[in-house]
Amino acid sequence: MKLYVICGHGNGDPGSSGGGETESDLVRRLAKRMKALGGASVEVLDTSKNWYAQGLVNSALKKKVGRNPVVELHLDAANGSARGGHVIIDADLSADANDKALADYISKKFPGRSEKLVKRNNLANLNRAQAQGINYRLLECCFIDNKGDRETIIADMDEVAAGILAAFGIGRGKAVGKWKRNDRGWWYDNGDGTWPKNRWLKLDAWYWFDSNGYAAQSCCLKIAGKWYAFGPDCRMLTSVEVNKNGDLAL
Ligand SMILES: [Zn+2]
Repeated sequence: MKLYVICGHGNGDPGSSGGGETESDLVRRLAKRMKALGGASVEVLDTSKNWYAQGLVNSALKKKVGRNPVVELHLDAANGSARGGHVIIDADLSADANDKALADYISKKFPGRSEKLVKRNNLANLNRAQAQGINYRLLECCFIDNKGDRETIIADMDEVAAGILAAFGIGRGKAVGKWKRNDRGWWYDNGDGTWPKNRWLKLDAWYWFDSNGYAAQSCCLKIAGKWYAFGPDCRMLTSVEVNKNGDLAL
């Protein structure tokens, strides 16, 4: 299975815009991250083209993709306050498992749409894909002219890329997690919308994450019957003794 990605607009058509960003550029950046994370399971179709205006959802595309799924990436724009993402499929088709998983993901990541899966019969590429029997859906990721949506998709681009891939059964591959911090402490963003909690994680050292996902820091903890000490950088300390009261025996 390979996921083929079409980036909306382009070739001189910027699509919608907001906050100094354009739809054509943002969806191309997203597709690039999908390729980086999905590797050989992802093929981004020619981003120099405007697949709608140039009529490229045709028999040649069907020949290329066969039965593999195709997703076309877009961003919405409205009045600045509308927000949320959804999936659009042809009115004559019923949603498959990929469509449903994608709609579940995007509506959770970018809530605000009344319907997460919409059927339409008046979008050219949907109709062209349906006529060719191409396994196709159009993804409106979120609203580019909504500040919150726009800032989220830019800040969480890897997570969104990984979320879209997961809807097609493609794993994170090389997705890289990142340490993040808020006023309660450090936590580890897996890069796919999840984070470790109630478990050990080995990175450059061992770290313990509590039930809320915060890393143990500057403390001693009894975990599964054994005491462990954690430094100010959250690393598990290996060169200290802990007495039976849980105090560091420095
Ligand atoms: Zn668009």
